This record gives sequence, structure tokens and C-alpha cells, in this order.
Amino acid sequence: MLADKDRIFTNVYGFQPWNLDAAQKRGDWDNTKALLALGQDNIIDRIKASGLRGRGGAGFPTGTKWSFMPKAPKPDRPNFLVINADESEPGSCKDREIIRHDPHKLIEGALVAGFAMRARAAYIYIRGEYIREAEVLFAAIAEAYAKGLLGKNACGSGYDFDVFAHRGAGAYICGEETAMLESLEGKKGQPRLKPPFPAGAGLYGCPTTVNNVESIAVVPTILRRGAEWFSSFGAENNRGTKLFQISGHVNRPCVVEEAMSIPFRELIEKHCGGIRGGWDNLLCVIPGGSSVPLVKAEHIIDAPMDFDGLKAVGSGLGTAAIIVMDKSTDVVRAISRLSYFYKHESCGQCTPCREGTGWMWRVMERLRTGDADLSEIDTLHQVTKQVEGHTICALGDAAAWPIQGLIKNFRPELERRINEKRGGGSLPMQEAAE
Ligand code: SF4
Repeated sequence: MLADKDRIFTNVYGFQPWNLDAAQKRGDWDNTKALLALGQDNIIDRIKASGLRGRGGAGFPTGTKWSFMPKAPKPDRPNFLVINADESEPGSCKDREIIRHDPHKLIEGALVAGFAMRARAAYIYIRGEYIREAEVLFAAIAEAYAKGLLGKNACGSGYDFDVFAHRGAGAYICGEETAMLESLEGKKGQPRLKPPFPAGAGLYGCPTTVNNVESIAVVPTILRRGAEWFSSFGAENNRGTKLFQISGHVNRPCVVEEAMSIPFRELIEKHCGGIRGGWDNLLCVIPGGSSVPLVKAEHIIDAPMDFDGLKAVGSGLGTAAIIVMDKSTDVVRAISRLSYFYKHESCGQCTPCREGTGWMWRVMERLRTGDADLSEIDTLHQVTKQVEGHTICALGDAAAWPIQGLIKNFRPELERRINEKRGGGSLPMQEAAE
């Protein structure tokens, strides 16, 4: 288990105040000027050496991403850092804990990361529903300006850097990086076709890097404690500590910082008090937020909770939002509900997603009630394959993967419902109770 002395987020439960005084006592903003004095390329090299991979889902190496930014930005085309705090993935709830309880970690990280990529300013795009969190964030930014930590000559470093917070309006798709840029520019939040990638033409057409809240908030601590310290946690290629968010049928759902690659069973036993009803009662797990395929109990129990370990069992780490389902779950209904979510959140730009998500949800509903034909299971699978990889952004994949996971792991359950409905047999227990 990760020792307390190795935790980066020491106030994630809000036992202490979030304000600047308390944050400084916890070690934030401690001689930030010295961190900036390391130099831009040196900071990027250290982040590369730490093995930090993006914490927003895709897992791209953070230092490498920063190195794509122009090294000599033009005065009329400054570099920008955009921090993705849109956190709308069902199951994901870690960035809100950072923002409402430890916002100065994020703001200091914004300065250090922004400096490293030679950015003029950082924009923090916060999910519209996070009202109290946004209040804390605005107040924390104001505190930092008042103390000279941001703005002209930030921290006395000679570097000018601004941080702006911007509230979204509640659309899931604005968590997609290019939709976020459109929304920041005041337009409808619809993803852009890539290329050009944001590092070439991003916010207002300027070079931009979009990073997740957690990826940025860990940066000052990595620089203070050293890349070797950070990379001493987790397996090869999956380094560092990570905020895991465990919800669903465990005895104590929680958000907890742990070492990457911790086995699933250990994570649940140590921090969540085990599975509700015991390990024999575990049905399946969605390990990385609603857009990754579910994994059956027997495959996840000993899996390391990291990018490679979960890929090996046919799923992904995503944001490490772990949704645990025990045997009382109507798994077909659960996935059908997710299909409805993606249908609702499709921005409608591309046909496979706009039409496909609605079509997939309607078939999922018929499968849920057993009113489909057996042949429709294969048809549905084929359609998910036609949506996957054929859309502008990853929402199409996100809508397809949960259904693919369901068909792969629970096909007999889908068939049973159809056969029972046809033969007049009993409905699934949950259905009968409705
Ligand atoms: Fe919009 Fe869906 Fe296309 Fe993404 S995949 S751009 S959400 S229609």
C-alpha cells in the first residue's frame, strides 16, 4: 500500500482548508521560482524521465506532448496551455476532489507546466455542473494573483503568466480536447477534424497543449521529489501514483491515491473494504470510466491496475474510474443505460455517431427486454464495428466499446432473455421486480 509520505494529494479528502496559507503549509508554492529556474527544456526532460502519462484517459506521455510545442513562439501567436477539468465521464470524480480541496496544486502546476512549454497563459475549463468547485477555483486563482504568484513576474521569476478559469455549460463532448477549444472560443462545442493537431493550431489558432487536471497537478511534486522517486512506483511503462475512483458495489466507495499497477483485489480490499457480499458475488467491472469495455470478475481480480495490465484483459485504464458490479446487477440494463448516455451526448456532426448511437441504444433496449431477434446480437456487433474508428472524435468508440464488451462477455445472458421471452419463460429477476 502507498505510504502516506509518498502521497502527492495530501488534502484530497478536505480535512484541511484549501486556501493558500494551508496549501503552503502542505508544501505547495514552496520556492516555485527555483523550479522555474531549472529551465524549460530541463523541466520537460525531467517529466519525460518520470514516466508520467496523461491522466485524462489516453495515457500519452506528458513530457513528450509538451515537447511538441514551438520553442520560439511568435509574439502574435503565443503558446497556450488548456487544462481539461470537464470531467464528465460517468464514474470519474477525481479532478473535482483536487479542485475543491487542493486547488493550489493545480494552479502551481499550471504555472510550471505552462512555463515549460513557453505558454503565455493557461485556461482551466471546468465542468459547468461543478459549481462549488468553480467557486473554490476562482477564489484560489485570486489568492495566487494577490500574492504575486501569478501574473506579471510570476513568483519573482521574471516570467509573465496568467491563469483563467472558464466554466462549461454541461456538455460531455466538451471534454474532447478540440471541442473544448471550440467552446473556449465561444462556439458550439463540436470536435475538430485532426490534423491540424492543437500543438500546431489550437486555441485561437495558436499552438496549444491540452492536459488533464491530475497530469498538471502532480508536476510540481515530481520536480521537487525527483523523477526517480515518481518512477519508482508502478510497473515499467506505467509509472507513478494515481488517483483511483471506486464506485458501485464495494463496501466503501472512495477516491484514493495509490501506486500504479496495484492489483485490483488489493486495491479493493485495502481501500474499499472488499466487494459487497464477498468476492464470489463479483460479476464484472468497468475499470476506466464508462467508455471502456467491462471485464468479467475472473479476469480482473488479479489484473494490475495500469494501462498495459487492463489492455491485456481487453479493456483500459481510462481515467481509473472503477465501476464495480456485483451479481445483483442487471448488466444488460446497465450497458443499455450507458448507450442512452452516448446517444444523448453525441454532438451530431458525423453520421455513424449521430445515427449509430441512437440505433445501438434502441437495439440494446430490445435486448434488455428480450424483444429482439437472436440474429440482432451479431448485427449489433457489426454496427459497433462500423461506428468504431469511423468518426471525427472518440465518442463513437466510447459508445461502441461497452456494447462490444457486453456481447463478448455476456452473450449467453442476451440469448437467455430472448429465448425466455419467446418461450414465455420468466423474465430476469430485476425486470420482474419493476
Ligand atoms: Fe460529434 Fe459523435 Fe462525431 Fe464526436 S463522433 S464529432 S460526438 S458526432
